[in-house]
Amino acid sequence: MDCLFCKIASGAIPVEHLYEDERVLAFPDINPQAPTHVLVIPKQHISSHAEAAAADTDLLGHLLWAVGEVARAKKLDGGYRLVINTGPDGGQTVDHLHIHLLGGRAMHWPPG
Ligand code: 5GP
Ligand code: ZN
Repeated sequence: MDCLFCKIASGAIPVEHLYEDERVLAFPDINPQAPTHVLVIPKQHISSHAEAAAADTDLLGHLLWAVGEVARAKKLDGGYRLVINTGPDGGQTVDHLHIHLLGGRAMHWPPG
């Protein structure tokens, strides 16, 4: 499958590994929108949050926990924001589920 984040997950495209285990990988976003901007992905291809299935719930929980591990390692003690852009209206540009971890500055609300 011609999926950018599958290639990153498999190591075909090298990235800095900020957290990794058998199921998930965290790496820096190439175009950071905050002092800390990390992407956390399942190694298994799930094309979007909208495509996640009941069988994926354990993986989804693990993914969310792994984001917390990265936030703790980055010492984002003031807080942070998690974003899952989903589909065209959500602004998703890479069709492999990913959680954005944004921190190191105050975030705005409402988002754009
Ligand atoms: P989306 O818009 O789908 O929520 O987020 C995709 C993110 O992937 C964007 O923030 C973009 O900067 C990031 N991105 C796109 N291509 C690459 C890449 O080749 N390497 C890394 N590390 N990030 C990428
Ligand atoms: Zn993929």
